[in-house]
Amino acid sequence: MKKDLVRDRQRLLGRNLSVAYEKPLNIVRGSMQYLFDDEGRQYLDAYNNVAHVGHCHPKVVAAGQRQMELLNTNTRYLSELILDYGDKLTATLPESLGVCYFVNSGSEANELAVRLARAHTKAREMIVLDHAYHGNTTTLIDLSPYKHNGPGGEGAPSWVHTVPLPASGLDATEVVARIGPNLCGFIAESLPSVAGQIVLPQGYLGRVYEAVRSAGGVCIADEVQTGYGRIGTHFYGFEMYDVVPDIVVLGKPIGNGHPIGAVITTRAIADSFDNGMEFFSTFGGNNVSCAIGLAVLEVVQEENLQQHALSIGERLLEGLRTLQRRHALMGDVRGSGLFLGVELVRDGEPATLDAAQIVNRMREHGVLIGTDGPHHNVLKIRPPMPFSASNADELLSTLGNVL
Ligand code: PMP
Repeated sequence: MKKDLVRDRQRLLGRNLSVAYEKPLNIVRGSMQYLFDDEGRQYLDAYNNVAHVGHCHPKVVAAGQRQMELLNTNTRYLSELILDYGDKLTATLPESLGVCYFVNSGSEANELAVRLARAHTKAREMIVLDHAYHGNTTTLIDLSPYKHNGPGGEGAPSWVHTVPLPASGLDATEVVARIGPNLCGFIAESLPSVAGQIVLPQGYLGRVYEAVRSAGGVCIADEVQTGYGRIGTHFYGFEMYDVVPDIVVLGKPIGNGHPIGAVITTRAIADSFDNGMEFFSTFGGNNVSCAIGLAVLEVVQEENLQQHALSIGERLLEGLRTLQRRHALMGDVRGSGLFLGVELVRDGEPATLDAAQIVNRMREHGVLIGTDGPHHNVLKIRPPMPFSASNADELLSTLGNVL
């Protein structure tokens, strides 16, 4: 008899792990932009941004396997691999961002970014955007309104200042003025994703960065979801607004499913952090992670995935806007490249139930998408980057039928 995985999961795992879809999926295999369940059914994956270059991309798998057979140890030994990776990674960033730290998740990377900011400024007060999510550690729950203002949350501590999602940037600059010399920094996703796949207004980040820096704070760009070419027009989200952060945080896509996080900063900030206390992560920067990280970056570049995301993203946006003219439920359609959101509204209110129903129906039809936003009414489309033009057409026709 088939095991009851839902029941066993309830018994063995913490119950606040959520499971996707009304009828949960038992996915047993992945290949590029496709997932396969235990009955051999194929799903088009339009949701998983972690498998950035494709589930089980052969070049990435081979790089990891080769290195596992050879050596896997830590950063206390010299290694060419970590330096090759660091060189290639910093080459994708503005020149001022030249010092890397490798860790094991987006949360760890953001946590380290906060430590760097504190070491550099000797201050503590942080500014965050409303509805943001930056990770699962104690400090990051404090910095994540999506969590601390949500179910089970206990609100923001006094050192965290939340500003509403921007219209002009005035709110943030006023908060900077209010905090004064105690300001440590500002952290934001360059395109807020958990908040509902939002594109910030042009000029916003520029104004906020300027105000934060003039008060002595540092600017952290959380590129965990938006980095590595996903938005199509640029390699990183912050480039869309012509700003240069002081600290960039990377996660999810850079290991294509292997747990890697990275923090890249300026020499000045890295020097402030070098205060006598050793920094060490047992697994961060290990040989296998570096081999995989390097292979992922090479695939992104060799396969021109940024350019591909731009063209497929445009096709999807155009198709979504065509659907929008036929379906009153579809409100704002937004995003860039393969980072897209469709806001659903009914009688001017967030259509949360409709969004859940649509996602479940799409799954029945073999296409995986998700929801996000404070009201969970934004359909979230962020597939593995090899997502093709015919995949885009299939997603659009399935969504049209389901709507
Ligand atoms: N920052 C952002 C923007 C994220 O979306 C996430 C994960 N959803 C994190 C940080 C935390 O990353 P991880 O789950 O790898 O710790």
